[in-house]
Amino acid sequence: SDINAELRAEVDLRRVTEQQLRQAKGEAEAANAAKNRFLALASHDILQPLNAARLFAAALEQGDPARRPAILGQLDNSLKATEELISTLLEIARLDEGKVEPDNRPVALQPLLQQLDDEFSLLAERQGLKLKVRAAPWTVNSNPTYLRRILQNLISNAIKYTAQGKVLVGCRRRGRSVVLEVWDTGPGIPPADLERIFEDFYRVDATARGRQGIGLGLGVVQRMANSLGHALSVASTPGKGSVFRLSVPLADAAASTASVVPTTA
Ligand code: ADP
Repeated sequence: SDINAELRAEVDLRRVTEQQLRQAKGEAEAANAAKNRFLALASHDILQPLNAARLFAAALEQGDPARRPAILGQLDNSLKATEELISTLLEIARLDEGKVEPDNRPVALQPLLQQLDDEFSLLAERQGLKLKVRAAPWTVNSNPTYLRRILQNLISNAIKYTAQGKVLVGCRRRGRSVVLEVWDTGPGIPPADLERIFEDFYRVDATARGRQGIGLGLGVVQRMANSLGHALSVASTPGKGSVFRLSVPLADAAASTASVVPTTA
């Protein structure tokens, strides 16, 4: 019976291994299918502006010379769109490889938010929106390039999807972190879509139609937040608006304030 027990153990072990193998195979196949899908969607989205560029080039050759400057402008836009998309795809590949060093360091929020305010206020104004960026007297531990890119994407979405009202960039301290918030009074996101908007190429039909974009922005935002170790969340009420939140740790107090602020136990 000892031998029997041993045999049974061996059989169990083999079953476990087979199960694991099957599971691993299933996962590999799923990952492969996801990659193929990504490649197909990416190619489709690259072809669109490229095809447009070809049409503009043909129009340059055959069309009315007086219209050339306008057509050249459109050609340039199409090429820029292609370039931007390919840069985004390369960035996603880099982030997914996991080779990106987050390289977190102290970042003063105020100048960063001021720059974002300057960068987006005209765009908001042209759309008849009010952009308000609140003051933020804190220094956080983050990567300035990624932090800027994350906020740029969130603010540009808030402006793009909000037809009227305002976009507010706020910021408050919560314990040892600062929560950065981008609020808008836009169309909101239905609950069923809310968990999917971070997926690559996912767009909410009803609101995204007619607005430029291919559905990669929030995927990039999510990847960058992950690589920095910052928590990202979203809350939304259809018909009222949305708020995206990013929680960023305060910079080391010992380095920035300990010499100024005396601590009491
Ligand atoms: P894109 O803007 O290129 O479509 P994103 O990945 O940035 O791609 O966003 C995915 C989708 O999430 C958008 O297509 C839109 O449907 C929805 N979305 C994102 N931000 C907002 C927002 N502030 N308000 C309403 N919907 C939004």
